[in-house]
Amino acid sequence: MQQHREQSFETDADTKQEIITVETVLAWDIDDIGTWLQSLNNEFRALILERGPVRIKGLEYPKDIRGRKFAKNNYYKRLSNSEIVNRQWLVYSKCKDTVFCFPCKIFNSCNFKIATMGINDWKNLSHILPQHGKAQHHIESMHKLCELSVRLKKSDNS
Ligand SMILES: [Zn+2]
Repeated sequence: MQQHREQSFETDADTKQEIITVETVLAWDIDDIGTWLQSLNNEFRALILERGPVRIKGLEYPKDIRGRKFAKNNYYKRLSNSEIVNRQWLVYSKCKDTVFCFPCKIFNSCNFKIATMGINDWKNLSHILPQHGKAQHHIESMHKLCELSVRLKKSDNS
């Protein structure tokens, strides 16, 4: 009798532990950059890098109080020779309704909103993004991202 009670108590404890784990996973949506912590540990960084920047297709972007919203054409930039290039570093957060720079967020490399809280200045976004793309800290983050990707791939293969 005594033993049976102890067993059932153990089962309850296990169930509680499982619920806590599930809640943690829900709060940390790997597909939504807006839910990630400001400073990430290496394990989480590796997990994110393996998945790469996620863009959810077919998303309806909400309008702000001025009737403005994120426009998908910001994902691309037109070069002077009219070539269209994908801004792969740009990621939209559905939960925050803001955009982030993927490498600057991962490496916590600056205090600008695009790496911390995300940007929702839709009116000026087409000016902000090219400036960010040329900024020294952004270029360094892009290099770090490439280096880390290569390192992770090597350690996978060994
Ligand atoms: Zn950046």
